[in-house]
Amino acid sequence: MTYQPPVREHLFLLRDVLGIEKYANLPGFADATLDVIEQILDEASKFCGEVLAPLNAVGDKQGCKWSADHSVETPTGFKEAYRQFVEGGWPALAAEADYGGQALPRVVNLAFSEMSSSANMAFAMYPGLTHGAYSAILAGGSAEQKALYLPKLASGQWAGTMNLTEPQCGTDLGLLRTKAVPAGDGSYRISGQKIWISGGEQDLTENIIHLVLARIEGAPAGTHGISLFIVPKFLPDAGGKPGARNGVRCDGLEEKMGIHGSATCVISHDEATGWLVGEENRGLALMFVMMNEARLGVGMQGLAQGEAAYQAAAAFAKERLQGRALTGPKNPDGPADPILVHPDVRRMLMDSRAVLEAGRTFLFWTALQGDLARVDADAAVRQRGADYMALMTPVLKGYLTDRGFKICSDAVQVHGGAGFTEHLPVSQYLRDCRISLIYEGTNGIQALDLVGRKLPANGGRAMMTFLAELDAYVAANRGDEGLGPFLDGVAAAKAQLQEGTLWLMQNGLTAPDNAGAASADYLHLLGLTALTYMWAQMAKAAFGKIAAGDADPFYANKLIVGRYFLARVLPDAAAHLAKLKTGAETVMALPAEAF
Ligand SMILES: Cc1cc2nc3c(=O)[nH]c(=O)nc-3n(C[C@H](O)[C@H](O)[C@H](O)COP(=O)(O)OP(=O)(O)OC[C@H]3O[C@@H](n4cnc5c(N)ncnc54)[C@H](O)[C@@H]3O)c2cc1C
Repeated sequence: MTYQPPVREHLFLLRDVLGIEKYANLPGFADATLDVIEQILDEASKFCGEVLAPLNAVGDKQGCKWSADHSVETPTGFKEAYRQFVEGGWPALAAEADYGGQALPRVVNLAFSEMSSSANMAFAMYPGLTHGAYSAILAGGSAEQKALYLPKLASGQWAGTMNLTEPQCGTDLGLLRTKAVPAGDGSYRISGQKIWISGGEQDLTENIIHLVLARIEGAPAGTHGISLFIVPKFLPDAGGKPGARNGVRCDGLEEKMGIHGSATCVISHDEATGWLVGEENRGLALMFVMMNEARLGVGMQGLAQGEAAYQAAAAFAKERLQGRALTGPKNPDGPADPILVHPDVRRMLMDSRAVLEAGRTFLFWTALQGDLARVDADAAVRQRGADYMALMTPVLKGYLTDRGFKICSDAVQVHGGAGFTEHLPVSQYLRDCRISLIYEGTNGIQALDLVGRKLPANGGRAMMTFLAELDAYVAANRGDEGLGPFLDGVAAAKAQLQEGTLWLMQNGLTAPDNAGAASADYLHLLGLTALTYMWAQMAKAAFGKIAAGDADPFYANKLIVGRYFLARVLPDAAAHLAKLKTGAETVMALPAEAF
């Protein structure tokens, strides 16, 4: 079974749940009519399903090759696929029109990103980071930098990378040592070693634009002395074409457990020429533009690997014959029943699907908030959109990757021993997915970001707005009888989230270990609450379709999966609340020497 892009789900979301047509008066949305969206999704599905998916196993088996001349060869077929990717205009979907982009809403682009990531996560990482580099230059670059780099990055002709990590400096960027010395001509000489740089070298693009964090000589220690630089592999000449080779090279590749098709590079900067982006010592703030975008992208990777793994598991469960149904044979003419008849196999598939469908909605809903934050005419809507983006980014990253990995693991379980061997695609999904819990800030760091920064920001405004929105939704829909259990679910989840938030306010501020110990459970509690809200919105859309006489079983099935979520997934919220309220005491009690 090969991966099938879930176009039907994307259309349901964009059209029936989010009602994208409502926003036709906003810039970018006017061009995103349902016809256009449908066309884009169909083409995206063809490209991802027919070009990228068949290369997924090739990339896994071959990996990338480093040569002593510091070049890197990507797996067979990647170059040609990248050429088609650029020619198809895919990198430019959501880029600004000023820089050659199509300026479509990000929420539409997300459907393509999900499909490409499910089809071939390692391949999709190259353009994924390019888009992040594009956003950082857009946010902080000078007019000249924008004019020179953005069109090339938007078209995919050049690629971007993100150079943060060093051997002694992972989560704690304050330990960063790469240094920048002013060259006297407005440029800097950058020296230092970066490790684990995705796409740091490759053979797909004519130039690579590294965005590098470095410390200008004499700058303060810690995070307040970090600046951001553009360091191109080839220095652009007067005509903006790749010119002289810069002093930046790839000194090797990492062996790793997954995403073998993505080149994870040791990058040495040896007096490389770089140009400051934005102000001195303000690099981290700009890098966060790139990182926030990348974090949403990584949350999507978790979901995307989960989706591909779920599809493989569901297909396998329909074919694999073992045992008989507890209620009597369902395949009496065969030697055994398909394993799909067994409730325990169903449990794993239903858990996965209930989280995937609402997880996707949560991701799209948040991306729409991000679009509104950029383009809505109403300042209050823009502020709410920006607040939600900030609040939900760590949740999407942490929750969807934790759950995506669990879905991949359950998919392996459904396959039995065939899941652990390397004959079928499912083991690759599990291995590839694992990194999504680690990079772009580990999930532990996402949880700390949520409770330590996002929650208290602006006096807790984003969370208060979200809680009020849940109340308002329940109140506004109470008349709708079918929706009752979904509204009860939203109300129950909201009450638990509120209780958890209050507990954090009362116990986390004075004793920070309480906040640290509670943070992962709090993140999951918020994730579950958001998913419950998404299920209510999906159920409402499905009921609406059914009431209007639409007999497509898609809608009845949606309600079945939604009811499963309420019965079997949402109850975890109570456990997260109970755990978080125990604070740090038992977590920190064991003496360090006893470990
Ligand atoms: C395949 C791959 C690709 C990558 N791509 C890139 C890239 O393109 N660019 C780039 O710059 N980097 C990249 N990275 C690096 C990645 O972002 C880091 O691995 C990640 O940020 C974590 O840093 P670390 O590995 O040093 O872990 P550490 O910081 O050493 O953390 C180890 C553990 O301690 C926990 N921890 C650390 N500090 C705290 C704290 N204050 N509170 C609570 N827990 C804490 C972490 O959550 C984690 O569980 C990549 C890594 C890999 C493996």
